Amino acid sequence: MKAVTWHGKRDVRVDTVPDPTIEQPTDAIVRVSSTAICGSDLHLYELFGPFMNPGDILGHEPMGIVEAVGAEVTHIQPGDRVVIPFNISCGHCFMCKEQLFSQCETTQVHEHGTGASLFGYTKLYGQVPGGQAELLRVPQAQFGPIKVPHGSPDERFLYLSDVLPTAWQAVEYADIPPGGTVAVLGLGPVGQMSARVAQHRGARVFGIDLVRERLEMASRHGIEPIDCTATDDLSAVLRDRTEGRGPDSVIDAVGMEAHGSPVAATAQRMVGMLPDAIAAKFMEKAGLDRLTALHQAIEIVRRGGTISISGVYGGMVDPMPMLQMFDKGITLRMGQANVKRWIDDLLPLVSDDTDPLGVADLATHRLPLTDAPKAYEMFQKKSDGAIKIILEP
Ligand code: NAD
Ligand code: ZN
Ligand code: ZN
Repeated sequence: MKAVTWHGKRDVRVDTVPDPTIEQPTDAIVRVSSTAICGSDLHLYELFGPFMNPGDILGHEPMGIVEAVGAEVTHIQPGDRVVIPFNISCGHCFMCKEQLFSQCETTQVHEHGTGASLFGYTKLYGQVPGGQAELLRVPQAQFGPIKVPHGSPDERFLYLSDVLPTAWQAVEYADIPPGGTVAVLGLGPVGQMSARVAQHRGARVFGIDLVRERLEMASRHGIEPIDCTATDDLSAVLRDRTEGRGPDSVIDAVGMEAHGSPVAATAQRMVGMLPDAIAAKFMEKAGLDRLTALHQAIEIVRRGGTISISGVYGGMVDPMPMLQMFDKGITLRMGQANVKRWIDDLLPLVSDDTDPLGVADLATHRLPLTDAPKAYEMFQKKSDGAIKIILEP
């Protein structure tokens, strides 16, 4: 089969690899019909080389048709249409019973002390072959796959794999008071959907980014856009619109590759020049993340407010402004989305023909899987108006 594989910094290719097969009675094989590229894939494209091997299959936002199931997989069968959550979770351990599916004890990666395995995502998360491929082996398929009806276009359901539950959790964790305000930092796919979910649930929403098409997309969904390059005092702009206090909550949907952090950029380039073993240690321990967006969130949230972090951060000892955080009495919540926890909330919304979350207006490009190298470059550079790119095997 054809699959999108990682070969080095900004080097993804489409290789021919062996077809996956059922290895465990809890496996399923899915023939992928649509598979999206995520902001998280850009961290692999740019930063996480030390934790990848050339040839690793990328991708964690797939859906398709079940081709085969192992003996213990009974809730789906060949021919069913399914969306695959990016977390691999068993559904029956302590963490899964707590609905903390991103911490599943059956698939945690003990070697690195990390949470549940993820599809297509580095040695830190189990190095499980990903879903940007013609076929996908799904471990723990007795629990994971979400069955959806046949008929409507893939985009209706595809984002249940990651973007929508991530956005829903971001809004839950943001704990916006009834009728309150929230600022969403970053209007990539996760930020767009977080903003729409918050609005759907009654909040007044400010959307902050620096890319014109992304601000325009937010604006046509009723979000109040703010171009962060048009001001050098974002806090003041937000205070002006919130009775002088700042928003009740802030969602950080940027993560560690924020715009506007030249020192960290240089340090990251240095890591790129070190041998992998040393670089991996250095990245894990030295913490040279770009904290621009998170520091911005701390700055703009009102006193006593809540910050919800869905953007991915990855250093061990990152400097945080503890004085300001303590003085403002800020609550912080964060983590990988516990995908299946939010599906019962989301399925009725994506199944509604009036499309309340506007899932039909997120993807800007649909390209054949073989165009993956071009698609990654376009998504990273945000060229050609790219906001969300879907690959079709
Ligand atoms: P993306 O890269 O398309 O979006 C990031 C956006 O942030 C871009 O539009 C960029 O212009 C904007 N941005 C950069 N610096 C900024 C700044 N200083 N202020 C305001 N905006 C700024 O990616 P995405 O797919 O939307 O993902 C966003 C983040 O969420 C990534 O870090 C990704 O890894 C993470 N993510 C987390 C989970 C989870 O489970 N927690 C799931 C999916 C994605
Ligand atoms: Zn993703
Ligand atoms: Zn589990």
